[in-house]
Amino acid sequence: MTTILGDDKRYEHDKKTRKKYRLRIIYNKNGCISSGHCILSDPYNFKLDEEFKADLLEGTPHPTAKGTWVKEIETEEPHLIMNAAKTCTPRVIAVIDLETGKRIAP
Ligand code: SF4
Repeated sequence: MTTILGDDKRYEHDKKTRKKYRLRIIYNKNGCISSGHCILSDPYNFKLDEEFKADLLEGTPHPTAKGTWVKEIETEEPHLIMNAAKTCTPRVIAVIDLETGKRIAP
C-alpha cells in the first residue's frame, strides 16, 4: 500500500521505540491559499487566522525572509507535520530533520 510518506518508513510513528525527532518547520505564509490541509494533518502546529490563512503556532519570524515563520519541535510523531507539508498544495511548508540536516518534506 502506498502511503503519503511513500517508501520512507523512517519517520512513521513507532510506539515501541518512542524515538524523538528534532525538526525545524519553515512556513512561508505569503504563499498560503487557505486550503486548511495543514490544520487537518497537524493541529498541534497550525491554526487558521481571522483571514483563514494558516498560522504556525509559536513560530518566530524568519530573520531575513519576510512573511516566513520558523519553529523547532521535538516529536515522536513526525508524520503529522510531514503530512501537513506534503498535502499543502502550494508547498509553502518545509520540514528539516535537525539530526541529519536533510529536508524530509515535502
Ligand atoms: S495547507 Fe498550505 S495552503 Fe493550506 S492552509 Fe495550510 S499552509 Fe495554507
